[in-house]
Amino acid sequence: MNCTKCKTKAVMKLPRHNAAFCKACFNGFVHDQVGKAIKSQKMFSKDERILVAVSGGKDSLALWDILLKLGYKADALYVDLGIGSYSEQSHAKVIRFAETVAAAHGATLHVHTVEQEEGAGIRELAMLVHRPTCSTCGTIKRYQFNRAAIEHHYDVMATGHNLDDEAARLLGNVLHWQEEYLDKQAPSLPASVDGFAKKVKPLYRLTERELAAYAVLNKIDYIVEECPMAKGARTLLYKEVLNRLETESPGTKQTFYWGFLEKQQRRESPSPTMAERDQSALRPCATCGQPTTAEVCSYCKLMARAKTSSLS
Ligand code: SF4
Ligand code: ZN
Repeated sequence: MNCTKCKTKAVMKLPRHNAAFCKACFNGFVHDQVGKAIKSQKMFSKDERILVAVSGGKDSLALWDILLKLGYKADALYVDLGIGSYSEQSHAKVIRFAETVAAAHGATLHVHTVEQEEGAGIRELAMLVHRPTCSTCGTIKRYQFNRAAIEHHYDVMATGHNLDDEAARLLGNVLHWQEEYLDKQAPSLPASVDGFAKKVKPLYRLTERELAAYAVLNKIDYIVEECPMAKGARTLLYKEVLNRLETESPGTKQTFYWGFLEKQQRRESPSPTMAERDQSALRPCATCGQPTTAEVCSYCKLMARAKTSSLS
């Protein structure tokens, strides 16, 4: 099998593009896809400061690597959730990447440790507030990323969601006709009504398999195991279903998700008056001062409940 572009020995087959690439051409393909995503979705420019949410997994570390190699100003934030050896290992992978590749580009890693800052690990906090671990985790991560973005004056937050993640999420939203979530599912979300900074997903044109190959070929040392809390998650089932369809018919995930985005873009965008009205609904949280539409933000409400519960 030879590279479709330069005819040397190929290392990676891409059935959805009916192509095969050598290492150099594959890296070029990956960088190209990210470049197209950034441009077509107006994500950010070379002058803007980006905060990448890194977990130690292949996607987020590959994203940080790609943005730095493409010449973007990208720093990162790692949130240590305090989930035993999983968090210890993922933290170590992030530090290793930050001290080697990122440091060579002059990029900075910020770390937020849930046990230190919130007083307990994510599982304990979830038990205290009687909420599922992943929903507690979501509230804390969203809040801490947003807070870091605002406090350190980043223009945009970037996450490592790939085509598989987005197609699985779309499948879940369509199966349950969650129209409100469908409206919010986009690779580039402007600063939102509830005080969240601009959020982008530059990897939405690349699959999980392509990103794993990118990480391996570029010697990015990442944590292979999934977060133990993800076991039994619906998204994993949706991914399995989509993988079966993809094997039978290459390009299914891309057609499904990109088709959705095309239809979404053809729809009218909200009028400036509406956007202005949304922004005016924001006010500082009475407890932490971060922007919110309520008197107290959802993070501070969660922390107050955890505190009351631990005292009783
Ligand atoms: Fe957080 Fe759940 Fe994801 Fe683990 S699986 S990182 S607990 S949201
Ligand atoms: Zn608050």
